[in-house]
Order: sequence, then structure tokens, then C-alpha cells
Amino acid sequence: MEFFGHVIDGAEVKSAGGETFASVDPYTREPWAEVALGGTAEVDLAVTAARRAFDEGPWPRMGRAERGRLLHRLADLILANADLLGLADTRDMGKPITQSRGNDVPRAADNFRFFADHARLTPAETLPMDSGHHAYTRYDPVGVAAAVAPWNFPLMLETWKIAPALAWGNTVVLKPAEDTPASATILARLALEAGLPPGVLNVVHGYGPDSAGQALTEHPGIDRITFTGESATGRVISAAAARHLVPVSLELGGKGANAVFADADLGNAVSWSIRAIFTNAGQVCLAGSRLYVQRPIFEEFLARFTAAAEAMRLGDPKLESTELGPLASETHHRKVRGYVESVADEGGTVHSGGLGDGWFVRPTVITGMPATGRHQREEIFGPVVTVTPFDTEDEVVALMNGTRYGLNAMLFTENLSRAHRVSARLRAGTVWVNCFFIRDLRAPFGGAGDSGVGREGGTFSREFFTEPKAVVMQIS
Ligand code: NAD
Repeated sequence: MEFFGHVIDGAEVKSAGGETFASVDPYTREPWAEVALGGTAEVDLAVTAARRAFDEGPWPRMGRAERGRLLHRLADLILANADLLGLADTRDMGKPITQSRGNDVPRAADNFRFFADHARLTPAETLPMDSGHHAYTRYDPVGVAAAVAPWNFPLMLETWKIAPALAWGNTVVLKPAEDTPASATILARLALEAGLPPGVLNVVHGYGPDSAGQALTEHPGIDRITFTGESATGRVISAAAARHLVPVSLELGGKGANAVFADADLGNAVSWSIRAIFTNAGQVCLAGSRLYVQRPIFEEFLARFTAAAEAMRLGDPKLESTELGPLASETHHRKVRGYVESVADEGGTVHSGGLGDGWFVRPTVITGMPATGRHQREEIFGPVVTVTPFDTEDEVVALMNGTRYGLNAMLFTENLSRAHRVSARLRAGTVWVNCFFIRDLRAPFGGAGDSGVGREGGTFSREFFTEPKAVVMQIS
């Protein structure tokens, strides 16, 4: 079995007491890797190393161009090791290799390239004042950033946090999700190979409560917490951060709504709606898990959407031909299975799909589910979608805004005025019109309500990972 250690102060290490845990491949349902299990002691070592690297090391002092050069070298190494990194995520959580190696790995490299360039090229404001002074803004690093990541896009989301933190001159301690530890250790090995100084990027493995996650987020030596995961965990981490008044960025759950108006390009709407819910077996915070279709096209849309769902190829996620893998873990499969099995109790019908073998859930289409049903309000986080007809724009806006989440929404319409009008009325961090999951890394990313606090991306990440400072000068 492969072994993945913590990476602390420039070295890959085991836990002090030699504790480990197993990472299970959800396709074979067998352990495939042994992982160091960290706790308070390892977190303390990592935070101390990160603090020393920040206070005394070259990283915050070397300048943005030099840091950028090293981060670009890391991006090159990520691409050169795409097979290794892609396979690590696929083995850890069952994501089809075409998505892990084909999408997440290049995006991880892009995260480093983008934030390296962004930090180097973004101007800071200078404000001429009528009083004979001027003010300007400095964006200095804050210190040690704690990053806590989920299992659904392991490498991609870890780098989304690490890249801006590092590019702006901070040092980092990352706690990857316990279901997906492998790619984080590989990334930290590559960071050392790229020439990042010891202590700049540290990784400590372990669980959340009473383990490495809790130890890290409660540690008095950290200056920022960036967290992606469930809304309930976000509340716990927010409370931990409040104790030391540490600013926190929370990217939490979602219940993406997707409205298809009668004037939509139907082929385009079906194709994006399929991707919106079945990519990564629906284990996507942005998943379009509530599909609302205007009544004149409801039957035709449902027939085409169901046919496309049923045509998806399930299988070994390591094969290029596989489009849908198993769910990430036994625990998660049990949760999603519970939703599939309770459709009738909540007043809906399984129109197609249902449970598969092992930890597979087939692309599952539910109809007739009332707006009050759990399946329409709670994050299922699986390949399960409710499809509901609507009549008017007002009605669908109310339905779309009808959950505690507010991460994202999708609209399909050829009516330009409607696209702008409805986008403005939706409570969501991102609205995609006639598409899904297209990202510009300069744009704000985050959610309203239970979907999060704060935004990341471009200058939003800069404001979070720096301590903006006004310098006011008398010039006459
Ligand atoms: P999770 O909250 O269970 O775990 C996320 C991370 O937090 C893990 O590393 C875990 O070990 C750690 N953790 C758990 N309890 C902790 C505690 N008490 N203190 C410190 N750390 C703790 O989430 P998950 O199941 O890994 O991820 C799925 C969730 O993430 C879904 O709700 C999904 O919508 C959300 N998500 C959101 C976004 C976004 O950008 N908004 C992106 C991806 C996933």
C-alpha cells in the first residue's frame, strides 16, 4: 500500500506516535493507501514551522515576481505529474479520471499561474486628496493561513485556497479531507521540488472534530481560516475563529436551481443541465439539483433529459470511457441512498435511475416532488435531480430562491431582457445564463445564506489574504 505522510517544515513525516488511517478506493471498496493521522502535536509543529517561515524566512520578503516564478514552476510540475495527481484523486474518491486528470489537475495548475500573475500585476489604489495629502493602499501578507478542504474536488479546491495565500506572501497549513488525502501530500512534495522554502506549505492529515481539523482551526497561531465544506461545519469553524477574532472565509453547501424557459435552446439546455447535475456524480456544491422547466416544453425536455441521463456510462473511474463513478465513501453512499429510498414518502416519484451496485447511484430523475419535500430543500450531493414544471417568471424566481442556500443558479432562455431581469432577482453568488460552471478566476466566487460568508477569486482573495493598509502622506 502506498504511504502518504504529513509535510511539515520541508520534510514528509509520520505522526509522532505512528498513528495512521486508511484511504479506501470507492470503486474496489478496499483500502489503497495508508495515511499519517495527525492531531494537536502535528498541527502545532506545522503552525510553528509556518510561523517561522513567515517571520524569518525568505518567502514574504522575496518579492512578487520571484514568488511568482516559483509558483509557475510548481504549476509546471503539477502538469508534468498530471497522471499521478489525477489517479490519486480518482482512487481516493471515485471521480472519473477524465474529470480529475482532465479537468481538476489543469485547473490546479491554473490556480497557481493565475494568482502568481494577479499578485504581481494588480495595481494598488492611490487617492489624491484636496487637503494637500495623498493616501495609498498597501496589500501586505497577514501571516499563517489555515486551509481546510473538502473531498469533492480535492486538489482543485486546495490549490484555490493555497495559491492566493502563497502568492500574496503568506505561509500555509493545509488540512485536506480525510477521504482524499493523497493528492495534498503529492502537491506538497512538488512544492518542495519547485523550490518553495521549508515551512511555506505544510500539510497535516487527519479528521475534523477532535482531530487535526479542530486543532488547526482553534490554534492561536493562525491569522486566517479559509474553509470549504458543509454548512454545519462552517458554523463550528466560525465559532472557533471568533474566539481569536481570526477572519474566516466560508465556501459552504448549495442547492443549485436551474430554470429552463420555453424559449430556451432545448439541446443546449439539456446538455448543460446533464453536466450540471451528473458531473462528479452530483458531488458538486454547484450541482443543478433542482430543475424547473416551463410547462409548454416540460414533457419534451423531460424525455430528452432522461434519455441523456440513461445513456451515461457508469463504471471503473480509472477508465477513460467512464462518465459516472461510485459515490466517494460508504458513509456518503448511505446518505444519498436514504434520499433515493424516501422519494415516495416525500410525495415524489423516481422517474428514472435509482440505486446501483456497490456505492453507485445511477443518474436519478425525480418528478412530482412538492416544493416542501426534503429533496427540494436539502443538499443531497449525489446524482439525484428533481424536475418540476412552472408557469410564470415570478413563480420560478420564488421557487429558485426558496431554500436557505444561495450559491448559484442557472437560466436557460433566448430572451435577453429576461436573462438580465431574472439574474438580478436571484439570491445567488453566481448565475450562469445558458451555461454552467464556466469560471473566470477574477470573478467573485462564494454564496449567500447557508452557502457561505465572503467571496474568493481575484481581488476578493487579495483582500482576504492580505491586511490592506492605508498610508496617508502630507505632500505640501
Ligand atoms: P465537511 O464539512 O464534512 O468537511 C470538510 C473539511 O472540514 C474536512 O477536511 C473535514 O475533516 C473538516 N472538518 C470537519 N469537521 C470539522 C471541525 N469540527 N473542525 C475543523 N475541521 C472540520 O464537508 P465535506 O463532506 O468534505 O464536503 C462536502 C461539502 O462541501 C458539501 O456541503 C459541499 O456543498 C461543500 N462544498 C462547497 C463548495 C463551495 O465552493 N461553496 C465547494 C465544494 C464543496
